[in-house]
Amino acid sequence: MPSPGDFQGPGAFERLLGWLRETDDSALQALWACADQVRREHVGDEVHLRGLVELSNHCVRGCTYCGIRAARGQLERYRMAHDEVLECAREARARGYGSMVLQAGEDDGLARDDITSLIRLIKAETDLAVTLSLGERDEQDWAAWREAGADRYLLRFETSDEQLFRRIHPPLGRRGGDRVGMLRRLRALGYEIGSGVMVGIPGQTWESLARDILLFAELDLDMIGVGPFLPHPDTPLGKAVRPQEPTQVPNTEHVVYRVVALARLVCPDANIPSTTALATVNKASGRQLGLARGANVVMPNLTPARYRSKYEIYPDKACTNETADAGHQALVAQLAAMGRRKGTGAGGRRRRAVLPE
Ligand code: SAH
Repeated sequence: MPSPGDFQGPGAFERLLGWLRETDDSALQALWACADQVRREHVGDEVHLRGLVELSNHCVRGCTYCGIRAARGQLERYRMAHDEVLECAREARARGYGSMVLQAGEDDGLARDDITSLIRLIKAETDLAVTLSLGERDEQDWAAWREAGADRYLLRFETSDEQLFRRIHPPLGRRGGDRVGMLRRLRALGYEIGSGVMVGIPGQTWESLARDILLFAELDLDMIGVGPFLPHPDTPLGKAVRPQEPTQVPNTEHVVYRVVALARLVCPDANIPSTTALATVNKASGRQLGLARGANVVMPNLTPARYRSKYEIYPDKACTNETADAGHQALVAQLAAMGRRKGTGAGGRRRRAVLPE
């Protein structure tokens, strides 16, 4: 039976590597059981629901994995009006969610003051925690948004392999892409910070994935999001031939579950979503399996249907065609069937006090 202590100190890297490559079913059952137990002890049976609003699909960047990259000329672009976002916030409240996530491409059309006033409007009308996921921005933007009441910031470092990161996420002018440095600055500004990786990016090795997990712990992340890389046919990485080397991490749900479980063991009190990308590769049970193997958060999509299909960062996103309400009913039923319950309150990270030995 693995235990969180296995992943601290000397030998942690090798043990992570061993678990990442593990395929023996009975060994994996022990990993799932351990992750589920640590999840229960540290963050309980509540599953926090965060309403996701995909604010804008404009993007200045050329990330080679992403379906809303700037170079996709044929994609119709949108930017939601404040009223429309507020409507989503009301919907989130009506369903008893504790927080909402405002996500977008790296859109310079989302001016600092626009987002500041949007945060103020949401905070004036609701008690929702507000999480931003707007990419790499100026520190002044982040400071102003924090000042306006934003609580959390999501910025995945995508991979800890710097060369691979530069290949899939080309730097843009002074936006060099030092996402680890940015996460540290966000934390210093008082945000709860979330990060994570895609699993199975072409060129990703088992060793780099093990280092990703060590970096989750080093950054002491409040939130960790992990999903499979899903090739989008209109992107360079989506068209590329997948490397066949044994060092290449496959982009399967199986590896994602191992990363989710290990993330729970290295960061026992983090908030960990069972991601939409996971629910996309296994529509029948990806979401439940994520929740059973370490995750404690779900991010239902509240983006209005007319925009949703245009925020196609990868193809065939789970629930893209469901009406938001049908999705919500199905989710609540699913949680009940698993013996879990909808979280109450904003669902921020509760750090466990470290007890003396
Ligand atoms: N512009 C913001 C939000 C990006 S979308 C930012 O860059 O932070 C949120 C996450 O979706 C990304 O961080 C990435 O990890 C994931 N994603 C993007 N394209 C994907 C793809 N093709 N397959 C799987 N995940 C993808």
